[in-house]
Amino acid sequence: MALKIEADAGYALMDATRDVRDALQYLRRSKLASEIIEDIESSNTLITIKVGPGLNDRFEHPPLDTGTSFGGVVYWDPGFTLGVTDKANKRPNVPWVKQIKEKRTIWNCCGQRAPTNQDGEINPKVCLMHELGHVLQYLSNPAEFRALFRNADGSKRRDGEIMSAKNTIEQVNTAAIEQPIIMELRDSGCNLGIRWDYYHTSN
Ligand SMILES: [Zn+2]
Repeated sequence: MALKIEADAGYALMDATRDVRDALQYLRRSKLASEIIEDIESSNTLITIKVGPGLNDRFEHPPLDTGTSFGGVVYWDPGFTLGVTDKANKRPNVPWVKQIKEKRTIWNCCGQRAPTNQDGEINPKVCLMHELGHVLQYLSNPAEFRALFRNADGSKRRDGEIMSAKNTIEQVNTAAIEQPIIMELRDSGCNLGIRWDYYHTSN
């Protein structure tokens, strides 16, 4: 077991443990999520999940090679729901993505219906999955991940380089992990919003 649950921000450990268990159970309805959770749980690296109300959801990787099994900390607010916008102009035009269009004709040309943006929500459980996506990104190659933020001598990279690295990490996590998992969860009957770009949030 490479996941350690800790309570934070005045939360009870019993509640924290239950919330994480519930979330992981829900997420396992997605095959991809299930595989990622298994990878993390069977890893020799120890990931701590700190759970508490009001925490800012994030993953903090070890900035330097600690030479230990310490693999960083996920912070998770089990009550935080993320508002997202499924933007029509970013929506992939592929068969497995539902195309949402105006219900009625908004202009008269050939009775065309325009694709519309769709606001929705990503529940706290899927927000936890997003952070576990970052854990997977880190575990896939810790040295390479750390090198996005630090030079070989351990000094911090320039602000611009760090911003650009963070942007890439977020977009890859959103596209390769968050989106396919949301689509699998939707297939299993879950009502979830989706974003095609990390920055299309509404809260
Ligand atoms: Zn993220």
